[in-house]
Amino acid sequence: MVLSDRPELWQQLHAWRELNQRIALVPTMGNLHAGHLSLVRLAQEQADRVIVSIFVNPTQFAPNEDFDNYPRTLEQDLQRLASMDVDAVFAPLAASIYPFGLDHSLRLPAPAQLSNILCGDSRPGHFDGVVTVVSRLFNLIQPNLAVFGEKDYQQLLIVERLCHDMGYPIAIIRGPVIRENDGLAMSSRNQYLDAEQRQRAAALNQCLQWIVTHATSGRLVSDLEQAACQQLRERGLTPEYVSIRIAKDLRPVERLSQTLPPLRVLAAAGLGQTRLIDNLPLVVTD
Ligand code: AMP
Repeated sequence: MVLSDRPELWQQLHAWRELNQRIALVPTMGNLHAGHLSLVRLAQEQADRVIVSIFVNPTQFAPNEDFDNYPRTLEQDLQRLASMDVDAVFAPLAASIYPFGLDHSLRLPAPAQLSNILCGDSRPGHFDGVVTVVSRLFNLIQPNLAVFGEKDYQQLLIVERLCHDMGYPIAIIRGPVIRENDGLAMSSRNQYLDAEQRQRAAALNQCLQWIVTHATSGRLVSDLEQAACQQLRERGLTPEYVSIRIAKDLRPVERLSQTLPPLRVLAAAGLGQTRLIDNLPLVVTD
C-alpha cells in the first residue's frame, strides 16, 4: 500500500493504533538495496506494522550536491518492499513534508558539536536538513520505533540525540552496515562509480580495517589517521577525513589506550565525483 499524502497516512495509522499495534518506521531516500532491506527486516522483528518512507529530502542537499541526479527508482523499490510484505510505503510529494515550501518551512538545527565535524565539515547544513526531515517524519507518523543504519554513523548519533533532546517516545534501533563482497559499504551512490572506480572503492573499507588491526595501546591517533589517508591517496581516492573518535559522542582522541570508552573509526573519501563514507568499531589491543 502506497500512501502519498497526510490524510491517507493518518487514516492508516489510526486503524493500526485502534488495534494497539506497534508501528516501526524505516526512513529512506529510496533506490533500495540490501542495506535498506536489512533495516526493514529488523523493523519487522520488533513491530506489528512496518512503514517505509521514501523521500529524497531536498533540505539535506547543498546546492552543489547531487539532489537532481540522486537515483529515483520508485517502481523497483515498491516491488522489493512488496516482496518483503511491508505494510505501507509513505512516498510523499515535497508538499506533504514541507507544506509552506522550502523557503518558508520551519527548520530544526542539528546540535553543533555533533554536526559541524566530520561529514558536517564538508557538508554544511546537511545535518540540519536531516534533523528537520526526521523530526517531520516522527511528528507525522509517531512510530513506536524507527530503524537507522550504522552506515551513516554520525547521522545515527544525531537522530538519537534528536529523540532524546526533543523527548520523542520513539526507540531508535541501530542496523549494522551491510557490505558488498569486497567490503564496500552498500550505498545508492555506489552506482555513480564506473567499473574501474568500483574496484578501487574497496580501499576505503580496507584502510579502516588496517586501522583496526593496528590500534595498539600507546599509538598516536594522528599517525594512524595520516597513514590511512596516505593509503587512500595511493589507491586513487581523495581522503576527506579518517578519524578515530569516542563512539558515543564523536569526541576526538589523541593517543590510544585500553582505558578509553568504546571507539569508532570513521572515514569519507572522494572517488571521481562520488563521495563514499564508512566506519567500523575499534578495539584497542595491547
Ligand atoms: P538512505 O536511503 O541512504 O538515506 O538510507 C536510509 C537508511 O538506510 C539510513 O538509516 C542509512 O543509514 C541506511 N543504510 C544505507 N546504506 C546502508 C548499509 N549499507 N547498511 C546498513 N544500513 C544502510
